[in-house]
Amino acid sequence: MTDNYPTAPSTRLIHNRRHRDAFGSPYSPVYNTTTYRFPDTEAQLDVIEARKPGYLYTRWGTNPTIQELEQGLAALEQAEAGLAFASGMAAISATILAHGQQGVVCVGDIYGGTQELLANHCQPLGIPVTFLLQADAEQLKASLTTQGMLVFCETPANPTLAILDLRAIAGIVQEKGALLAVDNTFASPINQRPLELGADLVVHSATKYLGGHSDLTAGAMMSSARLTETVAAWRKNLGQLLSPETAALLSRSLRTLPLRIRQHNENAMAVARALDGYPGVARVLYPGLPSFPGHQLAREQMNGFGGMMTIEIAGGGAAATAVADNLRIFLLATSLGGVESLVSQPAITSHHDIGAEERENRGISDSMLRFSVGLEDPADLIADLQQALDKATARDKTRP
Ligand code: PLP
Repeated sequence: MTDNYPTAPSTRLIHNRRHRDAFGSPYSPVYNTTTYRFPDTEAQLDVIEARKPGYLYTRWGTNPTIQELEQGLAALEQAEAGLAFASGMAAISATILAHGQQGVVCVGDIYGGTQELLANHCQPLGIPVTFLLQADAEQLKASLTTQGMLVFCETPANPTLAILDLRAIAGIVQEKGALLAVDNTFASPINQRPLELGADLVVHSATKYLGGHSDLTAGAMMSSARLTETVAAWRKNLGQLLSPETAALLSRSLRTLPLRIRQHNENAMAVARALDGYPGVARVLYPGLPSFPGHQLAREQMNGFGGMMTIEIAGGGAAATAVADNLRIFLLATSLGGVESLVSQPAITSHHDIGAEERENRGISDSMLRFSVGLEDPADLIADLQQALDKATARDKTRP
């Protein structure tokens, strides 16, 4: 396939090959190198002084394997440029340090690590940080006091799956001369593309759906070429690059991303429908269910409802723990986005440290169980959940 041949992102991800080898491999070789040899000093100076293209040092981001991955990442979010990182937190911290120095306003619930970064590390560095639990237009406008501030948000949110109106937030952000960064990890670029809805920067924990097999840790940032350049400078000097081997593994995973996400969407929808109204289940929170409060908004800004789902168990926190402990296929493990289904109880895992009062403010109850619905046969997943619910309900009835 020639470089300028027009194709859909799913085709480009498969044929994203910049470096051809002598043996006709359909994929580029992995450039496992930290440095590059020059024939003489003049040739080296030509590259250092940007008269000629070339590679100097891998940590600076100049590595063919990593740059090939970055082309794929940019194509996924339909962005001008993409950067790969050693983790999702590396991508988030570089983005915040590059574009959040005038102040950061967080809208809605954000990942605990991002919350800690902002509260424990950015504020002591002198970066003003505001947390707005609700996406209230007037509060957001009032918080954007200085030109060039950064608004940061996630949708769907963890673990409530609450949906934020990205077009509405982007409108306010633009009017106030600020920038909008969206953590798109939960949705994946197949289901939602924030840049098309008015965001300026997108970040991902590529450890999740982009990697998709729970076997690599990586991050990504996609944006315009201009905004990416500043983030790349922070990545270079903070030393946040991933290894060429991990980059090659992630490129491999991206080739099946559209296919995997379609199946995650289908499986989660089937599980959500089966659990909605099932004995022992008080509430199913899944954006694809018409009963979900953000359903209409999700229909408007997403192309699919994703693989993440939360349920509330009727019997409270202890009953939820019993359901989690009785599951046989779902693994009791943190993280999400892999081929295997996972379960976690947010009140005792991801949201344990924020305390009961803060959990209540955010609508996170002890009886919530969060599922990352994987790619197993959905009938097996439903049967597993139903047997665990039946056992927990029977156990509850034996209690005085
Ligand atoms: N963003 C979200 C929504 C996450 O769930 C996570 C991790 O769970 C991160 C960012 C951080 O990603 P990583 O663990 O790859 O640093």
